[in-house]
Amino acid sequence: MRDAPESAQLIQAFANTVDVETGTDEIETASTFDSWLRERGLLRGPRIDAADHALGLRLRAGIREALGAHVGDEPDTAVQQAASEALRELPVVVTADGHAPGTLVPAPQLSASRKALAALAVAWSELTVTGDAVRLKRCSEHACAWVFWDTSKNRSGRWCSMRVCGNRAKARRYAARQAAGTVRET
Ligand SMILES: [Zn+2]
Repeated sequence: MRDAPESAQLIQAFANTVDVETGTDEIETASTFDSWLRERGLLRGPRIDAADHALGLRLRAGIREALGAHVGDEPDTAVQQAASEALRELPVVVTADGHAPGTLVPAPQLSASRKALAALAVAWSELTVTGDAVRLKRCSEHACAWVFWDTSKNRSGRWCSMRVCGNRAKARRYAARQAAGTVRET
């Protein structure tokens, strides 16, 4: 199984800036989001402001819902709607300039910070176009919800780790069956 392409790695890192299990968020503030974007070379120039930080969070929430759908979760339409509205602020254009023909890039009139956000949107779109997106999934164990790259041959993975989350889910199903009286203890 090949490694996740660059766009998948970026989207995975972006989606995993929030850690549901520990309740931490690497990009909780405009300032931490600013640093995160700069560390990845996505942002140069003026700092991220509160409005662009809010757009980024909406985009991330939308991506996480889409990746949850890859393990069969029903996406939250309100969250997806908010992401769509954020995307309206982040136009992209087609260019051949130094890129493969038909490549989407952030619109030139955007501010530096919006260009950084639009670059994340482009990476997300690249994934869906190549079909790689289906391997990028949000862990089906909702207490975990970590985004992982599914390396299984038939792309059937549902948990970030079978050892931890897969077994947690199995144990819960077993307990539920036992409570329902379908499993008898000997
Ligand atoms: Zn997990």
